[in-house]
Amino acid sequence: MSLAYTVERAQEIADNLTGVKAKLDEALQSKGASAQKARLVAVSKLKPASDILAAYEKTGQLSFGENYVQELEEKSKELPSDIQWHFIGSLQSNKCKVVAAIPNVFVVETVDSAKKATTLDKACAAAARPEPLRIFLQVNTSGEESKSGMLPSAVLEVAQHVVETCSHLKLAGFMTIGSPNPDLENGENPDFKALSECRTTVQDALKINGLELSMGMSDDFQRALLQGATNIRVGSTIFGSRPPFNKTAA
Ligand SMILES: *Cc1c(COP(=O)(O)O)cnc(C)c1O
Repeated sequence: MSLAYTVERAQEIADNLTGVKAKLDEALQSKGASAQKARLVAVSKLKPASDILAAYEKTGQLSFGENYVQELEEKSKELPSDIQWHFIGSLQSNKCKVVAAIPNVFVVETVDSAKKATTLDKACAAAARPEPLRIFLQVNTSGEESKSGMLPSAVLEVAQHVVETCSHLKLAGFMTIGSPNPDLENGENPDFKALSECRTTVQDALKINGLELSMGMSDDFQRALLQGATNIRVGSTIFGSRPPFNKTAA
């Protein structure tokens, strides 16, 4: 695959990234003293590697999100090794080995059960990663059956399982996708609130702190930041609309 990009395309991506960052800054300023910065993950699934390289070279963006293991594996091989990949797609047990073997995976955001954590832990041991691999627990905060992730009621038990039995993983936070059209409560998104409550429960019970909240996408990243997101995943606002998903890429 060619990594060449046009000047126009690079400018477009850089402008879009700048626009998202400006909106995040605006939200931060409106929040005042309690404001906290968040990491912006540029979600590049189904977009060419040349788009990623353009963002990297033009703006210094290092955090990118990918959903499909094969696509991530291919891109990670041809792109700079200081990129920090976020795996944000549904994690299948039989793909854990491939993910664990990619050295610059920064975090797997989609661990959705204790069993999956154990599978990924073993894969990390086999890959002999020099440091434990960061993971987020994916939470189905809206409780809709179609959504992936564990229910909030399961989070503490899974978190405890990771901390106590998965020595090649580092529990680093929680992630939610949330409902596309949430009914706001006092201006707050109940999915984001639920994720934040999961964090409080786990931090209090397991006596750890500094766990992250991965929430907010193109439609709702400002609100996510205001509700405490530390990791925000934005795709189409940066790279434009995506081509339809093609099964062979997974
Ligand atoms: C695709 C995707 C995103 C980015 O979505 P946009 O609406 O394009 O910003 C964020 N998170 C996850 C888990 C995704 O799959």
